[in-house]
Amino acid sequence: MTYCKECGHKLGFLEHTADGLCNGCRQRLAQEQAEKAHAAAIAPYTGAELPIITVTDAIMKKGETACCRTATVLKETKTVNLGYSGASHGVSIPLPIKVGGFPVRYRVGQSRGHIVKHDELLETSRGDLIISNQRLFLSPFAGHKPLSVPLSKIASFHVYENGLEVWQDSKERPYLFVLNATGSEICGLCLDKLLRA
Ligand SMILES: [Zn+2]
Repeated sequence: MTYCKECGHKLGFLEHTADGLCNGCRQRLAQEQAEKAHAAAIAPYTGAELPIITVTDAIMKKGETACCRTATVLKETKTVNLGYSGASHGVSIPLPIKVGGFPVRYRVGQSRGHIVKHDELLETSRGDLIISNQRLFLSPFAGHKPLSVPLSKIASFHVYENGLEVWQDSKERPYLFVLNATGSEICGLCLDKLLRA
């Protein structure tokens, strides 16, 4: 008979696993571990000064120091053309051409439908999002586009559990950086401090 080493409950037939835990305890411990890792990652960003991280694989400007870096997918809203919709209500005009004995009629306004467009959130790049004391920078993976937004051009930003939304001055649409919860919070803490400074 095997018992859970955490709670002492007898393990069920399907719970005989190498870690000696019941399903409930395994879930609880994994959750606790994730919370601890999150708190540990956030901790350096909650002090008075932002940490400085070393960036060797991206071109940094004079006096530029980075405070965080996290993997991201960049999404932007693009207008997608879906083609035409709507019935044809054309007017027939008889033309003086005969094909096989019947007059050919040309329908005016045959394609008078709507052009259907709609906005879609599309992936436009991926790589590492780096926040420095000068800008927000997407260091792209090979074959993807880089993006650089000076801090002075950031009109507003919003932190979500799964990403960061950044509005740049004079741009009609925001940049959406898809991030994990820890990355989102760290980016939010950095921007909050840098933009208040
Ligand atoms: Zn247990």
